[in-house]
Amino acid sequence: MKFQPINLPDVDMKRPIVIAGPCSAETEEQVLTTAKQLAANGIRIFRAGIWKPRTKPGGFEGVGSDGLPWLRRVKQETGMYTATEVATAKHVYEALKYGVDILWIGARTTANPFAVQEIADALKGVDVPILIKNPVNPDLELWIGAIERIYNTGLHRIAAIHRGFSSYEKKLYRNQPQWHIPIELHRRFPDLPLFCDPSHIGGKRELIAPLSQQAMDMQYNGLIIESHCEPDKALSDKEQQITPDSLDLILRRLVIREMKQSTEDLVDLRRQIDILDNDLLEVLVKRMRVSTEIGIYKKEHGIAVLQTNRFNEILEKRIANGVKLGMSHEFMRTILAAIHEESVRIQVELMNK
Ligand code: PEP
Ligand code: MN
Repeated sequence: MKFQPINLPDVDMKRPIVIAGPCSAETEEQVLTTAKQLAANGIRIFRAGIWKPRTKPGGFEGVGSDGLPWLRRVKQETGMYTATEVATAKHVYEALKYGVDILWIGARTTANPFAVQEIADALKGVDVPILIKNPVNPDLELWIGAIERIYNTGLHRIAAIHRGFSSYEKKLYRNQPQWHIPIELHRRFPDLPLFCDPSHIGGKRELIAPLSQQAMDMQYNGLIIESHCEPDKALSDKEQQITPDSLDLILRRLVIREMKQSTEDLVDLRRQIDILDNDLLEVLVKRMRVSTEIGIYKKEHGIAVLQTNRFNEILEKRIANGVKLGMSHEFMRTILAAIHEESVRIQVELMNK
């Protein structure tokens, strides 16, 4: 795939290209007030969800096509470009009918090849930039598959949006960034522009600044950030929306560092290693914590620390799994023996306390 840049006349394409606007278009007034405040701060691309995919029925599902004339007014009155999410062929036709300039495919839709194909078919013969969010699940191939489906219609002004990946355990982030996934996407398609969506990754206002900075340090091209004239009254995603003025402050404080082109590939790979090593560390810490709990149980119930049968059984199974995944027998044995040894050391220490 060979992508074309998303050139928009009169829009500065220097990093970061910023797309901002409310999670959802709610009323004509909210849309226009927000847009005018953003435009006054120099934002050139306005986002607003017209059709909202909600996890459960009963949430605010968007105003639907009634909101499209509001976006047209934004264009007319502020000169901004407009962007909205499409999930069906009907959304595509309706949005284009009202002159929406940029379309994006949401995370839940990217995860569904039938839906992406339907959108791709509706886009045949149309020339519009399209942004493709990562699927909700951490599946790089599914993300690339969606990009290919759109690309194959002849539409080459494509960009990817990294909005994080959902997980069962809710932690610091609403959606885990898993930076190594977009970094790998960038390594494979260096000319595919990459946007970060710190609003949906973080899920909270205070995480937008650090995530935006991180994205800039990772050489992302742009940011898509949710901004609402009255965030506390937003009908969707209110915890993560910020006022146009807070957004302005965040953008002004960003430090943009440029990277030397020639080593970019290597830098990307090294970043993946850094991130994966951190992940490894986290998993090891979790594992040792569980070992400690087992140690406490053994102590309380007078069970011996060393259970040779159990160790041999897990050793064999894990080595076989590792070998199946392409790792050497020797390496697997060394690693597993070291982990086991450390668990035993922790439990013995506990016994003697
Ligand atoms: C959105 O951008 O408001 C949205 C619904 O995002 P996502 O598809 O990333 O959940
Ligand atoms: Mn949202």
